[in-house]
Amino acid sequence: MRCNSDDLAHYMQASYSHASMHIFITLSAVAVFIGTRHVFSKIRNEMANLTVIIIGAGPIGLTSALIAVQCKRVHRLVIFEEENRSRVENRSYQITIQPSLVSFLRGYGVDFDNLEGEWQDGCFYTRVGVYLEYIIHVLPLYRAETDIKFGTKFSRDCIDTIDVMSGRKLVLCCDGRTGLAGQILGLSDECAYHSTASFGALAAIERSSQTLVPKPEIRVHNIGFDLSAYVSSELEEKSKSTFSLKIFGNSRCRFLALAVKKSDTKIVKAMKTVLDKSKTETAAYISDCDTFVITEGDASRSFNFNTGMDINLGLKSLSSLKPFIERITVAETEYNIMSSLIYKMEHSDRICKYFLKYGLKEYLFM
Ligand SMILES: Cc1cc2nc3c(=O)[nH]c(=O)nc-3n(C[C@H](O)[C@H](O)[C@H](O)COP(=O)(O)OP(=O)(O)OC[C@H]3O[C@@H](n4cnc5c(N)ncnc54)[C@H](O)[C@@H]3O)c2cc1C
Repeated sequence: MRCNSDDLAHYMQASYSHASMHIFITLSAVAVFIGTRHVFSKIRNEMANLTVIIIGAGPIGLTSALIAVQCKRVHRLVIFEEENRSRVENRSYQITIQPSLVSFLRGYGVDFDNLEGEWQDGCFYTRVGVYLEYIIHVLPLYRAETDIKFGTKFSRDCIDTIDVMSGRKLVLCCDGRTGLAGQILGLSDECAYHSTASFGALAAIERSSQTLVPKPEIRVHNIGFDLSAYVSSELEEKSKSTFSLKIFGNSRCRFLALAVKKSDTKIVKAMKTVLDKSKTETAAYISDCDTFVITEGDASRSFNFNTGMDINLGLKSLSSLKPFIERITVAETEYNIMSSLIYKMEHSDRICKYFLKYGLKEYLFM
């Protein structure tokens, strides 16, 4: 067969338009696919919601609840508390909320002006029961369905209750220093022990005739003790033996915390060594039941012999709770799930490291 140049040009033009058509159809199909996927993922993201389960209605559990109900992703909140409501609301010990945390909590609607308590230097002093009662009262005012199960101890038997809940879940273990919820749910119980290079002693005075009126703290730093009264050879060490004293608590129960920087003086060594403890695993994801588990408050860390700082440390850690909830509700890929867990664990770790480095200095050795 013979082709002249006109035929060839015609043939090439036809092939060209044929190929262009193919490319156009393919690109359109890809664009429609990407667009539909984007729309579906947007709809899925917008509809994604979370059930939050909190174990423990102490100050950290209930503050977490207050934050959670204000996240638009959270549609249901369940709280397990082993004690009954009146015991929770009548807890008598005092809490001191630091100025930065007062503004953090105000941001979540805590109306300090209508809470019984005392102010001094921007710190708010109240009874823990007053704070807990306030949160229990305001939680139902928010959109999320809230169920506080007082008198219900969380145990292995309760795992099924969580498993049958549909959709993605977040369990916050806020069951305090001796809490086992994290362990029951599969978190490691391994702890890291740290030293703040200090020794400390704690004394408590209870005057049962007094009412539970909140009282501000008294701090005295750099007190020189003449240790020669006990061991004469330690006289020369006297200049190094600088103590700091903090008196806190309410008018019925006053606590005296004495701290001294670590030294080789025998009398100082005889005081209680300060050991700080923090959980090494504070967040995990259980894929079988699409559940995130984290620990907060005393269940996560406990610091030194008693600086009266535990609640503040627990509250500080809650500043990452809202962003964490936002992230995990929409996290679909393994990468997103892992990076959300790392985000929460790193924040928890930073709180510990900051306290170890500056904590006692800020709160006892100013
Ligand atoms: C006498 C005293 C005085 C204190 N004074 C101060 C102070 O002045 N300043 C300060 O910052 N800190 C103070 N603290 C420390 C403070 O109490 C804690 O740091 C704080 O309560 C920790 O809060 P949390 O919510 O993590 O744990 P917790 O307050 O211990 O709350 C844990 C909650 O979980 C519940 N729970 C436990 N196990 C389960 C379970 N299996 N199922 C269901 N519920 C469970 C418990 O009943 C409890 O309600 C004091 C403590 C005491 C005892």
